[in-house]
Amino acid sequence: MEVLKGVHSIDHSEVKDHSLETWILNCKEGVVLVDGGMTPHDVENIATELKTMKKEWRDVKLILVTHKHGDHIKNLPKLKELTDAPIKAHKLEAPLIEKAVEVKVEGLEDKETIPYCGGLEVIWVPGHSEGNVCYYLKKHKTIIAGDTIFSDSQCNLTAPPEKYCLDVKQATKEIERLLDYDFDSLLYTHGEDIMSGAKQKIKELVEKTR
Ligand SMILES: [Zn+2]
Repeated sequence: MEVLKGVHSIDHSEVKDHSLETWILNCKEGVVLVDGGMTPHDVENIATELKTMKKEWRDVKLILVTHKHGDHIKNLPKLKELTDAPIKAHKLEAPLIEKAVEVKVEGLEDKETIPYCGGLEVIWVPGHSEGNVCYYLKKHKTIIAGDTIFSDSQCNLTAPPEKYCLDVKQATKEIERLLDYDFDSLLYTHGEDIMSGAKQKIKELVEKTR
């Protein structure tokens, strides 16, 4: 579904409280996918959403990955076959993802601006994994946070749980990097997206965990 103008969020989950998302950005330069899910069912969901946007697989010009975990990368070979788009992830993880799913992945730098939709900036937030990133959509005042942020059963934002993190202390501390950006909404993988007041919520989380 379209959550902001030109920004589509797909929740692949069929189980409540366990969401898994893909985002589709309808940029004038071409369509961008962020994360691709893990099963053929997730690929079908993306195809269905593209259809509602009157787009086809070949309109996808770029595939971005937030980090190397399986639920975010398993469909990359299939998505590459369907779109032939370049795939990019943080430079620390590009080679790891290449090895895991045997598809070419280009490396991104921290703070690099990707020239789509008025500029998508890479925000490196290590800890959940070594090359975990968020993508900042300047024009939409939105951060696509992937697994950088989770939420608990009361919908309070939290750092990612320790069992899913390479280094939970680092993952918690580095969330403060998001405060350098001007944003209202926060789209993340496992939980309800926040469509307004997100920066204040992140500020409170950072203060609580300091
Ligand atoms: Zn993860």
